[in-house]
Amino acid sequence: MSARIMDGKALSRQVRAELGARVDRLRARTGHVPRLDVIVAAQDPASLAYVRMKRKWADEICIEGESYELTERTAQGEVIGLIERLNADPAVHGVLLQHPFPRQLNENAALLALGAAKDVDGITPQSLGRLVAGLPGFRCATPLGIVRLLEHYGIEAQGKRAVVIGRSVILGKPMALMLLEMNATVTVAHSKTVNLPDLCREADILVAAVGRAEMVKGDWIEPGAVVIDAGYNKVEGRAGDVGDVDFAGASKVAAWITPVPGGVGPMTVASLLSNAVDAAEAALG
Ligand code: NAP
Repeated sequence: MSARIMDGKALSRQVRAELGARVDRLRARTGHVPRLDVIVAAQDPASLAYVRMKRKWADEICIEGESYELTERTAQGEVIGLIERLNADPAVHGVLLQHPFPRQLNENAALLALGAAKDVDGITPQSLGRLVAGLPGFRCATPLGIVRLLEHYGIEAQGKRAVVIGRSVILGKPMALMLLEMNATVTVAHSKTVNLPDLCREADILVAAVGRAEMVKGDWIEPGAVVIDAGYNKVEGRAGDVGDVDFAGASKVAAWITPVPGGVGPMTVASLLSNAVDAAEAALG
């Protein structure tokens, strides 16, 4: 078997074209475009690169936004003051708190300060609580992008056995909850899970969200399974990013697979922008 590719790059392009049309209509109706502001650590090259990519795609569909850079000298009170100002500013529709913050800052306190109506990355305790409770709210961008990929390719989760490897607050946990919302039977694995390969072999849908290059091997995968690789890892001596799944091995047995790059990554950004457009439409009426 040779797995079919779930092309996140192509789907993201389509989503962004649709968002561009919504932004045009919003501007025609209200005279305003969405504004997504970003708070990011100035000393973190990976974060700055992600934010630049997000900014470029936002610019293409006329989503405006300011960037605020945190340094090693930024005080906690300054960040909270900034977030409170952005919460209160009606011109700002969404705020992205790019992880990680400089070490001296309490990131959880910053997340708690951000109003749920502007949490377009869906990562504050308020938004995550809404997900747990099944209430409307912004869903976390990466798992939301994965859900959109599954839906786009007509992959039914209902009644399926799903295994999510990873339990981070921004990825593994919300992914498990979203698969549960889709009526899958979900198991969450982590670094203390015993006999992970056998557990993975039980999965109809396997999501790898670990941060370990090519940890998931082809023989961990049930023939015909759907394999979603959320990992982005740097490997010395190899150009570009490497996923958590051994793509060559896995694509021989899986029915569907996401590539790295070009799978989950572009859909994360598309989902963030889509949440920002939703936020602007809700605020502008
Ligand atoms: P994280 O916070 O480091 O969490 C990693 C999770 O993997 C933890 O729950 C950890 O378990 C688990 N884990 C670590 N080693 C394991 C092992 N040997 N066996 C089983 N589980 C293991 O990472 P994250 O932020 O969720 O990110 C995960 C990956 O996704 C990274 O490669 C990251 O770059 C990527 N990512 C991609 C996107 C995107 O847009 N595509 C967005 C965010 C993140 P414990 O909880 O027990 O420590």
